[in-house]
This record gives sequence, C-alpha cells and structure tokens, in this order.
Amino acid sequence: MMENGDVSKIFGENVFNLPTMKARLPKDIYKSLVKTISQGTRLDIEVAEVVANAMKDWAIEKGCTHYTHWFQPMTGLTAEKHDSFIQPTEDKTVIMEFSGKELVMGEPDASSFPSGGLRATFEARGYTAWDPTSFAFIKDHSLYIPTSFVSYTGEVLDKKTPLLRSEAAIDKAAKRVLALFGKFPHRVVSYVGPEQEYFLVDKDLRNKRKDLLLTGRTLFGNKPAKGQEMDDHYFGQIKERVAAFMKEVDEELWKLGVLAKTKHNEVAPAQHEIAPIFSTTNISNDHNQLTMEVLKKVADHHGLYCLLHEKPYEGINGSGKHNNWSIGTSGGELLLKPGKQPEHNVQFLVFLAAVIKAVDDYADILRVSVATAGNDHRLGANEAPPAIISIYLGDQLAAVVEQLKSGHGVKYDEGKLIETGVESLPDIHKDTTDRNRTSPFAFTGNRFEFRAPGSRQSIGGINIVLNTIVAETLTEIADKLEGSDNLHKDALELAIQIFKDHDRIIFNGNGYSDEWVVEAEKRGLPNLKTTPDAMPHFKSQKSIDLFTKQEVFTKVEVETRAEIMMEDYNNTLHFEMLTMLEMAQQEILPACLKYTKFVTDDLASKKALGLDAPKELEKARKLTSLTEELMTKIDALTDATAVPELDAFETGMYYKEKVIPAMESLRETADALETIVAKDYWPFPTYTELLYLV
Ligand code: ADP
Ligand code: MG
Repeated sequence: MMENGDVSKIFGENVFNLPTMKARLPKDIYKSLVKTISQGTRLDIEVAEVVANAMKDWAIEKGCTHYTHWFQPMTGLTAEKHDSFIQPTEDKTVIMEFSGKELVMGEPDASSFPSGGLRATFEARGYTAWDPTSFAFIKDHSLYIPTSFVSYTGEVLDKKTPLLRSEAAIDKAAKRVLALFGKFPHRVVSYVGPEQEYFLVDKDLRNKRKDLLLTGRTLFGNKPAKGQEMDDHYFGQIKERVAAFMKEVDEELWKLGVLAKTKHNEVAPAQHEIAPIFSTTNISNDHNQLTMEVLKKVADHHGLYCLLHEKPYEGINGSGKHNNWSIGTSGGELLLKPGKQPEHNVQFLVFLAAVIKAVDDYADILRVSVATAGNDHRLGANEAPPAIISIYLGDQLAAVVEQLKSGHGVKYDEGKLIETGVESLPDIHKDTTDRNRTSPFAFTGNRFEFRAPGSRQSIGGINIVLNTIVAETLTEIADKLEGSDNLHKDALELAIQIFKDHDRIIFNGNGYSDEWVVEAEKRGLPNLKTTPDAMPHFKSQKSIDLFTKQEVFTKVEVETRAEIMMEDYNNTLHFEMLTMLEMAQQEILPACLKYTKFVTDDLASKKALGLDAPKELEKARKLTSLTEELMTKIDALTDATAVPELDAFETGMYYKEKVIPAMESLRETADALETIVAKDYWPFPTYTELLYLV
C-alpha cells in the first residue's frame, strides 16, 4: 500500500526501466541497450550477458526466485513458464544464475497452443525471443521477460511479432510520405490508448453459476426489475468495496509502469472503466494485457470477480474496449493533428486521406479484427457501433472535407502554397469532435477512436490490422507522389481525389438507426453481422495481398490465423452449448419439477378439503406446460450437439444457424420459468443479485 499520495514514489518500481538500467549497467552496455530500444538495432550476445546478470541481481533483491518468458499466443491471452534461477554446484549447493542466452531465447513446448495447423505440417517446437523494447518486470516473485513467439521454421505463433512487423510497416510507409514534405524523423510510431470496460460481480455469487464460471457470461437470466434505464450508474458515485478495489488496481499497475489514468462507473450497473495514458502500440498492448490480469487478480482480494466478457448479461449493455489510435514521429509530431499552418495541413490531409482510404478499402478486414463470439452480442445491438464500418469526422473536419471536394475556395497559388479553403481549416479541439458515440471509427482531435473492439480482446490483432491497412495506403500515396515536381499541389489534389472516391465511408449520422443499415447497403458498404459472416474475408486474396506486401504475415500465416480465429468462435459456442445443457438438465429442470410438485401437492391437499383454487390450478398448468416446453427444447439443443464434420468456416455457420437459435429458444423458456418459480427453488443467483450485490 502507498504511504502517501505520491505516485512517483512507486511508479515503475517493479520494472527494469531506463533509470534502473542506467544505475545497474556499465555505461557502454546501457548505451548499446538504449540504442536497441530506441532504434531497433540488433543486440550482441555479450551485451545480453551483462544485461541478464544485472536483471537477475535486481530481481533477486526484490524477492524473485524465478524468471519467465512472457508471450502472447493466439488465444488472445498471455502465457508463461517459470524457471528458477538455481544452478547446482559441485559441492551440492546452488547458486543463482541467468545467462544472456536464457534472456534472449526460450523454447517452450508449443504444441498446446493454437497454430491453425501450422505445427502439424511443420514442427512442434516453439521459440520465444526477447523483445527489448518492452521492459522486463516483476510479478508474483518472478522476473517477466516480454517475448515474441515463433515456430521452429519461423512462422509467427503469437500476436506480438506481427504487431512489431506492422509497426515497422507504418514506420517505413509514413517516412516515405514525410520525406516528400522534407521531413526525416528517426522513426514513425503508432500510439494506442485503450479504454477498458469490465463488470464486477460478487465472487461467491459468481461461483454459484456454472455459466459465469465456465463461459464468462450468463447463459440464463431474466432481466432485473431495475436495469440501466435510470441512467444513474454512469459516472455515478463509486461504492466503497469497488473504490478499494480500484485503488489497489491503480497501485499495482503504477508499480508495473502502466500509466493508469482514468476510472469511472459505466452505463450498466456494476460496470466500470479504466483507461491509461496512451503509449506506443507494442507497449500499450503489453500493458493492456497486464491490466486485464491485474483486474482479475485484485478483484479476488476484495471478494469480487472481474468479468471481462463482452456480454455478461442479456438486456444490459456489454463491455467494449475503445482503441484510440494515432501515428506520430519520434520527434513528437502527431500526424493526425490538423494544426493551423497550411503547409502542415496538406500533410495532415494526406495522412487523413490515407486513413479514410484504408478504412474504406479494408472495411471487411477491420471488421474481422473485432469479430469474436463474445463481441457478436454487442455489435449492432444498439449499445455498440454497428457491424458496418464507417468513419465519423466530426462537424468541423467533415465541413472542411466537403469544402475541398466541392472545390469551392480551394485554389493553388505558387508562392503561397494554398489559398483559402485549406487555410480556413480550423484548429480542431478534442471537445468539438467527440459527439457521436454511435460511430465505430470516430475522429477525436488528433486520433481515431475505434469503438468496435470487445472488452476481452487482445488489442494486438486490432492494431496489426489498423497499422497494416494504413501502411498500405500510405505506400500507395508515396508511390504516386514520389517524383512529383509540384508536391504540394499534387498532394492536395490526390487527397481531394481520395476524399471523393471514398466518400461512402464517411457517415456523421446515427449509427444505431435502421435507416443507416439501408443507407449503408445502398452505398455498398459491407455489413458482416456475425463472426462466421466476417471471418472468410480474412483469408481472401485481397487480405493475403495486403499482409504479404506489407510483410506482416506470409500467406500461410494469414490462412492459419483465419482458421484459428474461426476455431476460437466454434470452441466458444461449443462450450456455451454444453454448459447450457448441463445447467438446464441438472439444475433448472429439477428445480421446476420440485416447485411444480410443491404447487400440485398443495392443490391436492386443498382439493381433499373441498377447497377450490382456480388460480393455483392455472399456475400448476403453466408450470407444467413450460416445463414440458423446457424439456422439448433441451432435446432440440441436444440434437444440435451432433455437429457435422465440416471445415472450421462451415462449422461456424452451423453454430450460427443451428446452435445459436436453439440456445436462444431454450433460454427464452428457462427465463420465463424463472419469473414464476419461487426464489427458494431457483438453483442459482439471479440478475438482481449479480448486478446489485457488488
Ligand atoms: P474520452 O473522452 O474518449 O474518454 P480520454 O481523454 O479519456 O477520451 O482518452 C481516451 C484515451 O485516448 C486515453 O487512453 C488517452 O490517453 C488516449 N489518447 C489521447 N490522445 C491520443 C493519441 N494521440 N493517440 C492515441 N491515444 C490517445
Ligand atoms: Mg472514449
């Protein structure tokens, strides 16, 4: 616990960060490591040897006995395998050792991680490789080393490696464009600030529900008498137990060097949000993974459980993860900041055009990046952006783009670069842009906020796609403009042409409305409603061309990734289906039969006394018929468990078309029974308890 409120005293204390490195490494070693971190240069094994030793001494002083390579397999979670530092000596004692080789490379058995068939055809071994750009840290008495995870033959098996590749792609493409404007920054990076939503639930109550225990969401449950209609939770006062939890979360995260900044109650009861200050994408991704882990761990200390699922409760808003994304130079220039200077504005317009073109050209692939079984419950359900991808520019920027397209007031004049029109481009403030929460992709002053991602998703995959599609359009723009002898004029004309060609992707209206669905179809925008609809787009020729050209994935990697994502969907549905059946058969049905017996026994004894009880008889009839219906629907879902032998994509369609309707139908009957069966008989906690006893 913190002694006083000075966060600077604890910030980063569990991180092998720059000050710690500087204090503990010889000067030349420190310099060489910093160069690797800032410029991505290769690190010599001799340097690694010294770094490893310093890391080990630091970790042992802080109570560590083990180290682990920490990696991000395609499950979307993190993985770790701990080794102690012990090394036996001749006199049968041990010393603590950690070599450069152990720091740089690990060899976990990869065979139990999803590979989409990569390893069946290649090789079971996997390698982890140190990512020096993300600092090592200490958690639970182990030294954690962030690593990439690849197969023996070099295929990537994780979400970090392609994210780093996509950053390299942005760097390369953006630098080409900036060079046209006479700018030569050291590096161009992408930044992300993820806003993380989550629910808290009482741990004991959660443990009484198999669905929450096994699938992270409720598969049954009637809407509580008081839902979120009152709007009294959003930004509301934070309850004491929750406040204590949030305080500990912040402190844990600060010690780990995570820039935890904002916390508040969200729209739904028991729903909250935490957001950090943005960092470079790779770090932000690592930190978001840590944030999710810390939320889970700390909740336990307070008798709570943290639900990261996108839709824990039917009828109550689900959780997302707003992915605030931008690009900037190592010199600190944000490339999506409109600014006031016309010559800077042309550059801005070019970068803006690149994003607009990227989102329109690759809307389907961006859609895939947020396609999961959990997120299917949110997107398009009038609580989150629709499954249709569009861009919201905000009134001011939209007006500028309109003006440019129409040609009014835009004139090119040699000496002065650009006259009127563009000069009138206002300095856009953040607070004038963030007005439309129904848009999946909104411009917010100096960045875009991608609002479709699910709360439980790794932001790795999402930003791999964002970085890659924008790198691609920047590359295309650079191809066109390089060699121009009238750069500002040509660049402006190209940007305007792109605004015209990609007009359809801009939508400033209400994304939740039915009219938009109709309008979007007219515009020819894809509306990929569910994961099985979206996923095949990831392995299309267009997608393969994109990722291979930008050197983010090979063809095989694209195909296997699509397969893995699809299998993840299928597995999720499979477990949900089985869990649902188990709960219905073993818990709900017996409860209904017991309660019906109570009512009918009561009726029988009344009848014996010659009492008339028509209402109770009616209730007994209703209970009986609904219970019969429940049994019929249990049978129907049981039939659906016979999943035919199909490929992953066809199997996904089977779950969508056959299993989900059977699940929904079973739930409907069970939820109706919940409303007429006595509380004492109902086998698990209800929504009211789950949502309000926090
Ligand atoms: P909101 O009004 O959407 O809640 P916040 O100010 O809370 O906005 O910011 C949300 C997130 O966006 C934070 O993580 C913040 O650091 C991040 N952010 C701000 N500027 C940028 C930027 N240029 N690039 C990426 N993320 C950014
Ligand atoms: Mg926001």
